[in-house]
Amino acid sequence: MLVSTIYVMDDNGTGSRYGFSTESLVNLTEEMVFDAIQEAIDTREEPFCQCDVCVQDIAALALNSTPAKYTRSDVDRYFPTPSELKEQARIRNIAREQVALAIRIIQKYCHH
Ligand SMILES: [Zn+2]
Repeated sequence: MLVSTIYVMDDNGTGSRYGFSTESLVNLTEEMVFDAIQEAIDTREEPFCQCDVCVQDIAALALNSTPAKYTRSDVDRYFPTPSELKEQARIRNIAREQVALAIRIIQKYCHH
C-alpha cells in the first residue's frame, strides 16, 4: 500500500507550513561552515574539485558533523555575550576541522 503525505502550504502570512513563523531563526553553523569552505578555496595548497556538486557535498558532510547553533534575535547574533562568543569559537573550530575532513573524503570519490 502506498502511503503519501501531502503538505499543504498554509497561507497564514508566515510563508511557513507551520502555524508559526520561523523566519527570524538563523543557523550560525551554516555561515561558519560556508566561511570555512571559502577559506579552503582561497588558501588550501592542495587542490580539490570546486564544482557545485563537490562543494555542496563537502558542505552537507561538514554541516552534518558540526553542532547546529541557532539564534533568533539580532541582539544575540551581533552582540553576543562572552560565553556565547566562546561557544561560537568552539563551533567554528569544529566547522574548520569538519570541512578539511569532508574535502579529503569527497575528493576520494570525485571522478570528474
Ligand atoms: Zn567536482
